[in-house]
Amino acid sequence: ERVYGVSQWGGGYFQVGENGNVHVTPVPDDPSIRIDFKSVVEEIRKEGVQFPVVVRFHDILRSQVASLNKAFRSSIEEAEYKGLYQGVYPVKVNQMREVVEEIVEAGAPFNYGLEAGSKAELLTVLAMNTNEDSLTILNGYKDDEFMRLALLGRKLGRKIVVVVEKYSELLLLVKVSKELNIDPIIGVRAKMTVKGRGKWESSGGERAKFGLTITEIIKTARYLEEQGMSHCLKLLHFHIGSQLTDIRAVKEAMTEGARIYADLHKMGFPLDYVDVGGGLGIDYDGSNSTNESSRNYSMQEYVADVVYGMKEMCDLEGVPHPNLVSESGRAITAHHSCVVTEIVGEIKSNAAQIDTSENENEHVFLKNMRELSDDFENQTNMHEVYNDASQYKEQALGAFKLRVLSLEELAKIETLYWDIMARLQVWYRKEEYVPEELQELDYSLSSQYLCNFSVFQSAADTWAIDQLLPVVPLTRMNEKPTVNCSLVDITCDSDGKIDQFSIGREITDVLPMHPLKKDEPYYIGLFLTGAYQDVMGDMHNLFGRLNEVHIFSYDDDPEDFYIEEVVKGSSVEDVLNIMQYNPRAMASDVKRLIDRQVSGGKINPKEGVRWTDFYENCLSGYTYLKP
Ligand code: PLP
Repeated sequence: ERVYGVSQWGGGYFQVGENGNVHVTPVPDDPSIRIDFKSVVEEIRKEGVQFPVVVRFHDILRSQVASLNKAFRSSIEEAEYKGLYQGVYPVKVNQMREVVEEIVEAGAPFNYGLEAGSKAELLTVLAMNTNEDSLTILNGYKDDEFMRLALLGRKLGRKIVVVVEKYSELLLLVKVSKELNIDPIIGVRAKMTVKGRGKWESSGGERAKFGLTITEIIKTARYLEEQGMSHCLKLLHFHIGSQLTDIRAVKEAMTEGARIYADLHKMGFPLDYVDVGGGLGIDYDGSNSTNESSRNYSMQEYVADVVYGMKEMCDLEGVPHPNLVSESGRAITAHHSCVVTEIVGEIKSNAAQIDTSENENEHVFLKNMRELSDDFENQTNMHEVYNDASQYKEQALGAFKLRVLSLEELAKIETLYWDIMARLQVWYRKEEYVPEELQELDYSLSSQYLCNFSVFQSAADTWAIDQLLPVVPLTRMNEKPTVNCSLVDITCDSDGKIDQFSIGREITDVLPMHPLKKDEPYYIGLFLTGAYQDVMGDMHNLFGRLNEVHIFSYDDDPEDFYIEEVVKGSSVEDVLNIMQYNPRAMASDVKRLIDRQVSGGKINPKEGVRWTDFYENCLSGYTYLKP
């Protein structure tokens, strides 16, 4: 727990059990429901589902939906706020059908709706959000077809709000609605001057990609008035960025947004809703701070700042409290899914060693390195030892290229060099001051654990924007982890690695893990992958989507759970089809080549059949390694 900080980032859903395994409590209101992750892994194996696997805890998804809605309800009650909360889930954060269905179902008692940001998402939410009392919010850039689809939603009796992101969209919307004679519900997105802090801060500020300036908002309201449609203008929207790390940004945005709402109201445009967008952050590194991968507030504090911020401004300005909408996606979905995979190997720079005993006539570089090693214990200036060893190694490489040093001598020099480095590492652990280049030793001597997964498919943000995600062994946490390592994936890409971890309050490039055992698989979990990571991955090296298992807990047996559904990941055929190959034709081509070898007597007929079947089985198989 001290190393992995599970309960810090676990959001109340994950802990380390007494047996050293990760335990899941998917329903915070009922902590007696406790699932041992090891038994989930065993069940997955029993079902014959190949790893890596995405494990979805549907109860967690439901809990998050309920928590957010309840937090708003209780803040509204406590503040004696007059409006309602009518949240929406932005499907772009995780569009998987099972995820959206679960959210819609769990949100039904709260009239929780959906948000879409593209035509494909709009087509999805039109079919999924059938509750006439909940909102459907449409953000993003829109064309004629988009507007017509939105108006179809109105015809179906939905509260579908078209949020105008740029002025020309307004003209288009008015034109199409008049042509179809359907009243739209219109929202305007304000370009805020306040910026969020963190990775997504460019969503706010004057150079933001979306939204109308104050002048354009006023123009919009006046244009609608001219067109006899001011009654259609119902919502003010703003979004200053995802993963807001500092609560001050939320407070500032509320002040600015509430002022715009209040003044519009006073100008004769009484809006029904203020939509505060997304941004509610997740504590990925468990530090509860303004670190990029954390946030310095809880869901309750965020909600209270939204409710009280709006109330105070409205009361000051003497305007009614609007209904509140938020578009939290990350906070709803991040916890519910994780990627489980096993370590399939260890890569170590100093793993291979050869006999370094002295030979006649050996090169002076090798002699020097051996002397340095033999004399190590008597050395007083260890920094000098490091410099000398590094210099000998570098010179040796040059000498090898100039054909003065043999391959075997170079290998002996390398073996001695890494041995000296390992001893230096031990020596410097006792020291307070460690020279800068020696600080690298922990990293260069660390192992790389090879994980059966692709960073580009399952954790795209760790590669793209240095997003930190918690990585944890699922078992053995009551054993001291003694191997410092970073993680590398199985893609042929050096960027396919994870070397950013949070330990305590520090960000490190290595994570202590347990030594691998020959006869016991070592499973790790990559947690908090339910938001964005689940759906943003690509097929680098043709590694496809992961197998998925959907876990539900039993009410009557707190320790038990069931796999409600297994969703098969991509087969090799699937990914080849996407890339415009014809796997069937490829199979017959390869069969023909095998048959030719059979006819030529190079492969015997039975063996030929076996090779043909093998090729076909691999085509229909999983894209990941079968350890
Ligand atoms: N709404 C809008 C307009 C967004 O652009 C985003 C994401 O950036 C969201 C909602 C979801 O934000 P979050 O995942 O931070 O809740």
